[in-house]
Amino acid sequence: MEDKTPMVDELEKGPWPSYVKELKRAAKKHDSVKDLIKVQERSFQRKMTQWKHGGIVGVKGYGGGVIGRYVQNPEEFPNVAAFHTMRVNHPSGWFYDTKALRTICDIWDKHGSGMTNFHGSTGDIILLGCTTEELQPTFDELSEHGFDLGGSGSDLRSPTACVGPGRCEWACFDTLGLIYDITKTYQMELHRPPYPYKTKIKASGCPNDCVAAIARSDFSLIGTWRDNLRIDQNAVKEYADKKFDIQRLVVAKCPTEAIELVKGKLELTHPEDCVRCMHCINLMPKAIRPGVDTGATILVGAKAPIIHGAVLSTVLIPFIKVQPPYTEIKQLWEKIMEWWDENGKTRERLAELIDRMGMPAFLKAIDVEPCPQMVNTPRANPYFFWG
Ligand code: SF4
Ligand code: SF4
Repeated sequence: MEDKTPMVDELEKGPWPSYVKELKRAAKKHDSVKDLIKVQERSFQRKMTQWKHGGIVGVKGYGGGVIGRYVQNPEEFPNVAAFHTMRVNHPSGWFYDTKALRTICDIWDKHGSGMTNFHGSTGDIILLGCTTEELQPTFDELSEHGFDLGGSGSDLRSPTACVGPGRCEWACFDTLGLIYDITKTYQMELHRPPYPYKTKIKASGCPNDCVAAIARSDFSLIGTWRDNLRIDQNAVKEYADKKFDIQRLVVAKCPTEAIELVKGKLELTHPEDCVRCMHCINLMPKAIRPGVDTGATILVGAKAPIIHGAVLSTVLIPFIKVQPPYTEIKQLWEKIMEWWDENGKTRERLAELIDRMGMPAFLKAIDVEPCPQMVNTPRANPYFFWG
């Protein structure tokens, strides 16, 4: 294979950052990255991947955390013959100091390709390109510095939280505290794949849902409030004075017509209709805030397409207070896992199992009473039969 890579080079052009530029920088230090660029050129030429399907590799005592990668033509690309991906569990909310980042990068430069992906779609730090021999030494050194592998395969994937109260005034509960606790509690489930397929827990502090839990997570906690949103009329006046069109941009776009402008004041005239969509709060953050009786809604069964199409979550518990030691939440999750583990077929996510066995069977198994909040459009949802 010659060294010219015209198709890959195309991706360096344009005003945006280019991963090809970064690859070429890394290739000066690591021969594996030189080969990687050539493998990509080959895959563009042939219009198909040049990687074989995974394979089982790992480190001692762990079943998850490493994804096996082998190139199809190792004799042509010997430096990426084995080019495994390591998933390193990220800190809750992705907070690092520069010392921690340097530590990870130094370890990775020493043992692997030096290439990283901050962060993978599950949330982990992704270290791309490790030989089989270097897996254990990399893991050992990461562990010495307080880092652990994340989930992969049929296990609990690394639980993920939005930045929450660390930086965001809208957090309705401590997403960081919850996810830190859950990660510590379920180490076994994270590292030793025990389930029919992968499963995810994600926590967003408010309905803006910055970790996209509603679309990706088998078990989500999304912050909400039980009382009414708070409106500061002085701040509303400031928006109006600056010619911000409250009627057109906020009131007219409330999905349930819950707020109105009454004689220059913004009022929640139909609080019972507010669906906590965050629209008005996002547009007028200085004037409108979530309520004070805060907690979370628990939803279940989101996933991207594998067996069936993509599924968004279904509400399971409309409101729960989220406070340490989170016993009620953990017990609920454990019951759900038990039912899924007992009944799920291989590669069947929770959403698909609920679809196959029916929501009534699921609710009965986990001892949760059906309630109206579970139904988006009563009588149109095939999960439910209302008497
Ligand atoms: Fe803030 Fe809400 Fe996003 Fe969390 S989900 S970071 S609380 S806006
Ligand atoms: Fe309307 Fe959404 Fe604001 Fe509630 S949060 S009042 S539903 S715009």
